Amino acid sequence: MKDKNIIRVGFIGNPNCGKTTLFNAYTGANLKVANWPGVTVEKKEGNIDYHGHSINLIDLPGIYSLTSYSIEEKVSRQCIMDDEVDVLVNVVDASSLERNLYLTLQLLELGKPVVLALNMMDVVEERGMEIDLHRLPEMLGDIPVVPVSARKRTGLDVLMHAVVHHFEEMHVADIMRYDAHIEDMIDRLEQNIAKQDPAAQNLRWRAVKLLEKDDEVCALYPAIYSEIVDRDYSEDIIKAKYDYIDEIAEETLFNKDKKSANTDKVDRILTHRFWGIPIFLVIMALVFFLTFTVGDAIKGLFEIGIGWFSDAVFKGLSAIHAADWLVSLIVDGIIAGVGGILTFLPNIFILFLALAFLEDSGYMSRVAYVMDGIMGKVGVSGKGFLPMILGFGCTVPAVMASRTLENESDRRRIIMCTPFMSCSARLPVYILFSEMFFPKYAMLVSFSLYILGVVVAILMALILNLFDRHKGGNTLLIELPEYKTPNARTIAVYVWEKVKDYLTKAGTTIFIASIVIWIVLNFGPRGMTLDVSQSFGAIIGKWLVPVLRPAGLGMWQIAVALISGISAKEVVVSSMSVLFGVGNAASAEGMTQFASILGSYGFGAVNAYAFMVFCLLYTPCVATLATIRKETHSVWFTVRTLLLQLVIAWLAAVIVYQIGSRIF
Ligand code: GDP
Ligand code: MG
Repeated sequence: MKDKNIIRVGFIGNPNCGKTTLFNAYTGANLKVANWPGVTVEKKEGNIDYHGHSINLIDLPGIYSLTSYSIEEKVSRQCIMDDEVDVLVNVVDASSLERNLYLTLQLLELGKPVVLALNMMDVVEERGMEIDLHRLPEMLGDIPVVPVSARKRTGLDVLMHAVVHHFEEMHVADIMRYDAHIEDMIDRLEQNIAKQDPAAQNLRWRAVKLLEKDDEVCALYPAIYSEIVDRDYSEDIIKAKYDYIDEIAEETLFNKDKKSANTDKVDRILTHRFWGIPIFLVIMALVFFLTFTVGDAIKGLFEIGIGWFSDAVFKGLSAIHAADWLVSLIVDGIIAGVGGILTFLPNIFILFLALAFLEDSGYMSRVAYVMDGIMGKVGVSGKGFLPMILGFGCTVPAVMASRTLENESDRRRIIMCTPFMSCSARLPVYILFSEMFFPKYAMLVSFSLYILGVVVAILMALILNLFDRHKGGNTLLIELPEYKTPNARTIAVYVWEKVKDYLTKAGTTIFIASIVIWIVLNFGPRGMTLDVSQSFGAIIGKWLVPVLRPAGLGMWQIAVALISGISAKEVVVSSMSVLFGVGNAASAEGMTQFASILGSYGFGAVNAYAFMVFCLLYTPCVATLATIRKETHSVWFTVRTLLLQLVIAWLAAVIVYQIGSRIF
């Protein structure tokens, strides 16, 4: 129930205007802030106390207008319409005020108390732009306009004060008018709506929406609509709003064209028609270089630590005469499994540091822009590529970010392709196997897998596009944000979140998976067994051997490792080390030992590459599957995605192995 003493405040605005930063500044939360749209896809809430008022803050997904095409728009519109919020804080990027005001004018029409937060004032000042803070509120119906900087944390108190004050006054703005004919229709519509629906609020907004032929509102008042509205007035209404925005700009903005010239200069190179993509590839290669070189240097220390820990535990357990099975479970199962994964933490850390840097500097949004050409040819706009790039980090948020797409069918296609992008969980697999089998070219080999992932994702999009009859045109509506020096806090939060996720995964999923693997390998139909070939694992795995043989992966251990990898892809590495009894697989010693064990089964470089290709492309992890199901509300779609990925992974691995083993 709504509590009268709590003021509910919704932060609403275009993508990238700083809503989440502002929300975090007030609540001390660490929600993800990013330099591109589609990151906040669900509303998030937090409570603060402001001078004795309890305030409930809601961070909403960014939207450009109050239509309801994309899921984000639906979420935001629903939330502010349903009387869930008392005061709207319209966060705008003051450095590009004109573009942001379109949403503002629509919000004002809603007839709710609106407070305008002029965010990014630091940028405005830095560029020497000026905003007439006296005239602007006048032109917006005397709503409070408060200059703030979410990043520098200035103006926050004044803003919250305005919110509380505005709430108590319940002042509703008197706003712009359309031409006489439209206003006349609005009047009549308002009267009729009030008659049919006495409880209805925001009559003017409803009337305007009827003139715009908004599906949802038209469905509420079909009779009123057909009686009064003779045609679709959306264009007239949009134009009137933009005309008014021009007027506002004219009267309140000074030196607005003082853009930072650097952004333009840099963009001429980075988003070059021809060089854009090669530059992107080089930058990604650089990220890899760092991940491998710097990451490996630190990894060495981790290995020593974990090796030492494992020895100590072993000695300790022996000293207290612990049962053999217990020692085996702890040392060979848990420590080998979880420890093996922890060793890769430094690489993961560096990868995320680099990705955070690229995102926050503003480069990642350029990638979508650069890819727009290619993506257009495969029937998805650069807008669809944004969620896919997120997939380099983790597929789960990437799938969720597909919500920015307006067309459900396009969205499903993106969801099907996103898991092919190589997420960070696959990195340990590449590092281990490429360093074991391609010691000199490890980096190149890993990089090739990332590229393969992107290529398969795009090809897949192309193929799906050919079969899709419901596609819609998604125009690339991202504005390229200014380049800026990445913010230390933003990056720290981002990296910490990822590292925390990784550690959590090691402590939960991977921990449990290691125990399960150990049980599957140490128990058979006749109870506990020391002979692995009699274990349940071997029995299940052998069943799959014929299927995997054409891909050069015909070993039951590999089958078991791949199955276990569905829990989380890193588990492939830990279960491989448990399966082959290699204690510290990631250490130099361990790798040599591991490679020679695998070699004795006839598993060489070509097999290793086929294996990595399979790991890249096959069924995404359980968390991703669950997200896909949740996002599409369809078990059948999820199953189809899963099967498709299995088939593609198998085909690709077979091709690699069959061709590779004939050449080498
Ligand atoms: P949202 O999409 O509205 O939630 O925007 P975010 O909070 O994710 O912010 C988008 C980008 O703008 C991030 O890179 C922020 O660091 C940056 N940003 C947010 N507020 C400010 C500000 O007041 N000044 C500057 N210079 N940057 C900001
Ligand atoms: Mg956000």
